Amino acid sequence: MISLVDCNNFYVSCERVFDPSLEGRPVGVLSNNDGCIVARSNELKALGVEMGAAQHHLAPEIRRQTVLLSSNYALYGDMSKRVTDVLAQFSPHVEPYSIDESFVGFQGFDPDTLLERGHQMRNTVRQWTGIPVSVGFAPTRVLAKLANQVAKKVPAHEGVCRLEADSHTTKTILKQLPVTEIWGVARRTAERLKLMGIESAWEFRQADPKHIRSRFSVVQERIVWELRGQPVIRLDDMDAPKKQIMVSRSFGRVTNNPHDLREALRHHAARASEKLRLQRGVSSGIMVFVRTNPFRTDLPQYRNRIVVTLDRPTDDSRDIVAAAIEGLRHLWRKGYAFQKVGVMLLDITPKANRQLTLTETPQCELESQRSERLMATVDKLNRELGKGTVQLGLPRKGNAWSLRSERRTPRYTTQWQELVTVSA
Ligand SMILES: [Mg+2]
Repeated sequence: MISLVDCNNFYVSCERVFDPSLEGRPVGVLSNNDGCIVARSNELKALGVEMGAAQHHLAPEIRRQTVLLSSNYALYGDMSKRVTDVLAQFSPHVEPYSIDESFVGFQGFDPDTLLERGHQMRNTVRQWTGIPVSVGFAPTRVLAKLANQVAKKVPAHEGVCRLEADSHTTKTILKQLPVTEIWGVARRTAERLKLMGIESAWEFRQADPKHIRSRFSVVQERIVWELRGQPVIRLDDMDAPKKQIMVSRSFGRVTNNPHDLREALRHHAARASEKLRLQRGVSSGIMVFVRTNPFRTDLPQYRNRIVVTLDRPTDDSRDIVAAAIEGLRHLWRKGYAFQKVGVMLLDITPKANRQLTLTETPQCELESQRSERLMATVDKLNRELGKGTVQLGLPRKGNAWSLRSERRTPRYTTQWQELVTVSA
């Protein structure tokens, strides 16, 4: 059995831990330079505000009752690490899937104890970090993802749900679930499936895996097996949610050479940037993570992650690689055999929505165009002459754009000067 643990409204929950007056109010968190909404509280969702909405498009009556905050990545990254540290107390097999989601493996645990463990895990995370989470257990990742949604939506589960592959409940849920809602099924795939008469998750599960493979891809075939309860998907198979991009890989052998880690990370960050440009997005922050091999219980264990803020939403590989390397500098520790390093681009918004800001000067605009041409050339060469033809050796130094984040809350957990003050 595997579980998916997902923090509820993560950015907003982090803010609420330190400012309880935000409880029960519509709260939105803005991308860098305070452009678009990248996180919403339930109350803001209920007002009909869409993800990615530009701040200046909010209707005045909504704007008046809403608290809008600048993103505080130092806080979110640190809280994310704290949550995973708690999860690691329950199982050594914790894999981050996004800044607010982790898969936690429970292979070999007594199945009858899982629900109770799930509740303990949820309560402990809440008690130790203040963050509310939902937990979904299932035999496969695809079903665990679904179990998590059920845990979140149906109050009777109290935040923890377990789905068996062949139970009546699972069947009922799959029959009601449109195929687009399955993790890993893209909208375009769903449209083609519809033409084949497959509209619900249940119909997809009943489809002939070989046929699905020949018409779509091996990953889509694996999703069919996973819906049937056969665990075949690796995390690398799955693209993260649309608003983030993850690239990571395990090393062939463990290493503690910082040079190896840097090289791997440089490659992952460049690859992630390429994917970002392909989907015409820009990212506001980057999460870097490292870990040792949890199966090597004879070796000292270490896992860590950090979020680095990008100076402004960007798709430039140079900025992204530089931020990744900067993050790694904080994470590397002597004496550990690292097995994995990876990056995750956070809060991707459409490049077209990127608005000019007050701090933008003609030089910025010029630099921006130059960056665009350079990146287009890099991508073209790599596409035509093979991956990795053009690589970035030296990341450029931090650029001169200044970050506008007027409404950022204090970095409560990572800066001594910004600790919470209590008045008595
Ligand atoms: Mg979440």
